[in-house]
Amino acid sequence: MYNWKSLLVCTALIISPALHANSLSECYPDWQQKARSLGLSKDITESVIPGLEHLPRVLELDRRQPEFTVSFSSYFNTRVSEQRIERGRALIEEHRSLLNRLTQEYGVPAQYLIAFWGLETNYGGYKGKMSTLNALATLACDPRRKDFFTAQLFDAFSMLEELKLEPSVMVGSWAGAVGHTQFMPGNYRRFAVDGDGDGKIDLWNSIPDALTSAANFLNNLGWHTGERWGREVRLPENFPYLELVEQRKRSLSEWQQLGLTTAQGNKLPAEDMQATLVLPAGHTGPAFLVYRNFNVIMGWNRSEFYALSVGHLADRINGAGRLAVEPPEQPRLSIAQVQVLQERLKELGLMDGEVDGILGPATRQSIRAFQQQQGIIPDGFPHPSLFKALNISPDKSGEPAQ
Ligand code: CA
Repeated sequence: MYNWKSLLVCTALIISPALHANSLSECYPDWQQKARSLGLSKDITESVIPGLEHLPRVLELDRRQPEFTVSFSSYFNTRVSEQRIERGRALIEEHRSLLNRLTQEYGVPAQYLIAFWGLETNYGGYKGKMSTLNALATLACDPRRKDFFTAQLFDAFSMLEELKLEPSVMVGSWAGAVGHTQFMPGNYRRFAVDGDGDGKIDLWNSIPDALTSAANFLNNLGWHTGERWGREVRLPENFPYLELVEQRKRSLSEWQQLGLTTAQGNKLPAEDMQATLVLPAGHTGPAFLVYRNFNVIMGWNRSEFYALSVGHLADRINGAGRLAVEPPEQPRLSIAQVQVLQERLKELGLMDGEVDGILGPATRQSIRAFQQQQGIIPDGFPHPSLFKALNISPDKSGEPAQ
């Protein structure tokens, strides 16, 4: 199937970051000019910028395409582990007086602050060791997301000056996030707070600084004091999936009328609130109604899986029990399997979009249309039964399902 030419093209694409190993020097003059115009110090223009180094690993990680989809159960279970819950409960006791003060001042309950800390770095267990300046410079000199990372690089330069940091102290993730709560330099400058009052803001080494900064950030993202993130719910039998999976934001009283209850089977609270239905694993998994603070959590990290994990970890740390419906183990799907699924849906005239191996909204809508034709619950979710119904065998799809 592959000829030599296409192989050569592929190889060139894969190794191209390495070919530009010294390419940062091309970017120095622009950065130096910008630094001067912003009034940054001579130290930045003449010493820090010319010392920036290209990190090939950063571009490798930036270009990495996932080979498989991630199932909700594997994402959720690794992040909301019993160990992490126990440790979170211990930390909430250890930092009780600080957390009480933060809840009063910023309106964010302690368990959420601890949950973010747990998800971001396993409570400071892995903060990342990559040079933040070199990582950001590598991404800022690369065309893909140049503007965003150039802004972050200049925020990092300003951090060096404002916080009087040595460049070697600034270490973190490959994408430039730093410290206990993995703040990007832009957020560090805007939202980080000196929580322990020692006159320095240090998200690498000071837990009070990190937790206070998290509280301040969430407050600025619009945290609604006194509201939950959402809750697990139970759907009635004969739930109208086709209609409701697409229009999933309704008032709590409408959801109540549609027969939804809490996970324990009780009435939903009689609050005048909008709530969005989230089914992260399709109809066989847990169902959630999420509120405004769910969107605040997604302002920190734009992923529904992440926000559900933060919310549930916070609940568990606060003493809640396990989900009533455990996330079902579901096979991860390879990109090739999703492509075969998409091709089959196209053959059936149910899909217009591109065959790209990504389970996006258009593909899910096509799955719902097929499920409806077949009389299967139309939740738009790629259950193994869907592959069976479409006569797609694991062999044909290239990669074995795990
Ligand atoms: Ca401090």
